[in-house]
Amino acid sequence: PHILSRRRRLIEDCVRDLRLNNDHIHIVEQEMRKAIDDGLGNASHATASVKCFPTYVRRLPNGKEQGKFLSLDLGGTNFRVIVMELTPDQEFLMDSKIYAIPLSIMRGTGEELFDHIASCLASFVKDREIGDEKLPLGFTFSFPCAQEGLAKARLVKWTKGFCCSGVEGEDVVRLLHESLRKRGDVDIEICAILNDTTGCLMSCAWHEPRCRVGLILGTGTNACYLEEIEDIHTIDQDDFKGQKHMLVNTEWGAFGDKGELDFIRTKWDRNVDDMSVNPGKQIFEKMISGMYMGELIRQVLVDLMKDDLIFFGAHRDKILERGSFFTRYASEIESDPVGDYTRAKACLVEMDIDPTSVTDEDCSSLRYVCEVVSRRASFMASAGITALLKKMDYKDVVIAIDGSLFRYHPHFKNVMQSRISQLMGIDYKFDLMLSEDGSGRGAALVAAVLKRGE
Ligand code: ADP
Repeated sequence: PHILSRRRRLIEDCVRDLRLNNDHIHIVEQEMRKAIDDGLGNASHATASVKCFPTYVRRLPNGKEQGKFLSLDLGGTNFRVIVMELTPDQEFLMDSKIYAIPLSIMRGTGEELFDHIASCLASFVKDREIGDEKLPLGFTFSFPCAQEGLAKARLVKWTKGFCCSGVEGEDVVRLLHESLRKRGDVDIEICAILNDTTGCLMSCAWHEPRCRVGLILGTGTNACYLEEIEDIHTIDQDDFKGQKHMLVNTEWGAFGDKGELDFIRTKWDRNVDDMSVNPGKQIFEKMISGMYMGELIRQVLVDLMKDDLIFFGAHRDKILERGSFFTRYASEIESDPVGDYTRAKACLVEMDIDPTSVTDEDCSSLRYVCEVVSRRASFMASAGITALLKKMDYKDVVIAIDGSLFRYHPHFKNVMQSRISQLMGIDYKFDLMLSEDGSGRGAALVAAVLKRGE
């Protein structure tokens, strides 16, 4: 039997607030459900934490879409321009280019941001020599927007480190149109604006008709799902007579902003929040997503170091710096076979910690801290997904998932799979499916479904 050292017991004691039990998860699920219902309600929407914005996307792809489309993807670490062609024999041809967004533009004026985007778009169209035909464009813009139509969306607030002035409250499509018009050298029709979550769902639904939920676990977290139009009370029902469904963009990253998660928030969560560009906002996101998970782990490690419970005698300067522990380290560290610390030691080297100055017990404790934080994240995501699945009247659903955290973390998927099974009961069938490049392909697919006619 495994006998824990005294030190390890102290560590487990120190991080116990990060371990969620079944009751906690159940409450998260129920609170999420309430927050979603508030977001959909006409009177409760304004003060709801989970806004549940209507996307105006009412049809999913059926694999029969055709034509050439452009898409733009802005919403996280990179900005991309994509051209794609859907052929009659259901082939998907695409070409894309990634452009950097300098920090000065991320935090500059909105005009600079959209001029930059327009300029990248223009140079892409010229390079690829596709400027001679007016191409429909779908814009993946992964920030919370209040949509007023398929191609009209007001930014509610910046997240994920962006804070360009003069954009909040404005119609983002109009701003991009203006920057394009100012240039006058490209002829493009922006026919839809959507979130990466919607893109993720659309991209998966193109070949998977059971797909009903889209989930992002990357820089941030968000989810969308297929809702009955009659249950969305924030739109005018008369505008959609005879139509049954619409995708709803939950913007669930903001769950907890009304204190719903206070019962499980730890001092490390509060620290991460206090140091962020948007304190008090996106609380669920800050407990789960890639932008914050590494920092959460680091904060815990720093506390353990203060008590000499880990890395005693090692070089600690770098790990004491904010942001020095990347979320991908957790994926690396948890990928080592149990008892092996090869990847963990490689991460330590990146943090300027000499691996010969740490013990195996340190490495084991490091792994334990990563596991506690990442398991909590996957439990919380599972609680959210369960709230959505229970809302919908289907018995067999595919959940399309995108984002580096889900893609690369070695256990996130398995933990979610078993946790959702447990919450839904064994009779419920569902699949978690990695969605390939939803934010690129999804926007083009929304444009393509529009052009499909019918
Ligand atoms: P975005 O969400 O911005 O579109 P990604 O899905 O690539 O882009 O997510 C980027 C986030 O994923 C970053 O915050 C980063 O910390 C995290 N990340 C990157 N690589 C990994 C990895 N191997 N394991 C876990 N998280 C990762």
